[in-house]
Amino acid sequence: MLNTVSVTLNLDHLRHNYDTVKAMAPGSRVFAVLKSDAYGHGLMNIAASLRHADGFALLQLEDALLLRRERLSQPVLMMAGVNDMMELAEAYRHGLTLVVRSRHQIEMLLACPARGCIDVWVKVKSSINRFGFNPEEVEDILRTLHAAPHIRVSGLMMHFAAADDLDRELGGQWAAFRALAERSGLPFSAANSAAMLRDASTHGSVVRIGSLLYGNNPFVGGRKFDALGAFRPVMRMEARIIGTVDLAPGEPIGYGGTFVADRRIHVGVLGCGYGDGYPASAATGTPVLLHGVRTRIIGNVAMNAMFIDLEPVPKARVGDWVTLWGDERLHINEIGQNAGMSAEMIQCGLTKKHRMRLLKEHEPHRADEPTSFCQE
Ligand SMILES: *Cc1c(COP(=O)(O)O)cnc(C)c1O
Repeated sequence: MLNTVSVTLNLDHLRHNYDTVKAMAPGSRVFAVLKSDAYGHGLMNIAASLRHADGFALLQLEDALLLRRERLSQPVLMMAGVNDMMELAEAYRHGLTLVVRSRHQIEMLLACPARGCIDVWVKVKSSINRFGFNPEEVEDILRTLHAAPHIRVSGLMMHFAAADDLDRELGGQWAAFRALAERSGLPFSAANSAAMLRDASTHGSVVRIGSLLYGNNPFVGGRKFDALGAFRPVMRMEARIIGTVDLAPGEPIGYGGTFVADRRIHVGVLGCGYGDGYPASAATGTPVLLHGVRTRIIGNVAMNAMFIDLEPVPKARVGDWVTLWGDERLHINEIGQNAGMSAEMIQCGLTKKHRMRLLKEHEPHRADEPTSFCQE
């Protein structure tokens, strides 16, 4: 055994999730959102398994070029557009689709000598108030772009500020955008994962799906939503028990001594901590799964160690693998809730810490393998 932490990706689940979105938005093209190294799953791990995707949506030009190098030839939507003329030239060369969301970008597009035609989506500002044009400006901008022979306007785009909060309506921004799209007669792209699930009227011609693709619950607080049952977790994180400790009543464990045993407790030490990507803010009580049984972490998570209560699993041994998240019985959103984070906050950056193991068909996860540990 080379490592005490294992991160696996179930690519069958990924394809299943993509196909599920396709079935839920049958009139739309489904673009897989791969920003931030595919939400910490690894850009090519994900893209190579979605060769049949209608398109991809990204932020960094470098990532788009990587997709083209790997011979993925479908539309690639650059959700932030380009930053300078050099990037624009590359976008032309590789047939990328650009979001246009600032005057600066329009000036670059108009100044770029015509070399074929480039597809653009005009971004309309939502209440995020970050990028895009105000609805009143859009008609004028469309007129300018339509007049340029080397620019093809694919449609209007918006991004929801709070579709992930089920206690809030999709709101006035959505009504205003819809009216604008109708008036212009152009196709539109609005839905992220949450909006796609909530309201079919947001589907338009392209839905941009991130969190659902990875099997995450896109709703704030991990709120229940019927259609979510159809999605499966792609990433599983597991850690090994590297030691055990017996606590007597009154004894603390871990840095800071935040946990004190109220009775005799048999404790497992896992070879994994925040340095390995487990959230440091996860508190005592956060669930883990061992031999199919849920138990809990206790004490503070350290850089490369954390503690779990072995009382519910008396058969547990040093060498056993423990599932930290990514099982149907232990969803990453539950860890997020305990840590005050979203699933995506936990996942982003994990590719920098781990080589993801790609799970082949019928291959078991570590925690589901028969234990190969020698008898003590
Ligand atoms: C990240 C992102 C998405 C995907 O959002 P999810 O909620 O993960 O589905 C869609 N559109 C834009 C503009 C984004 O930045």
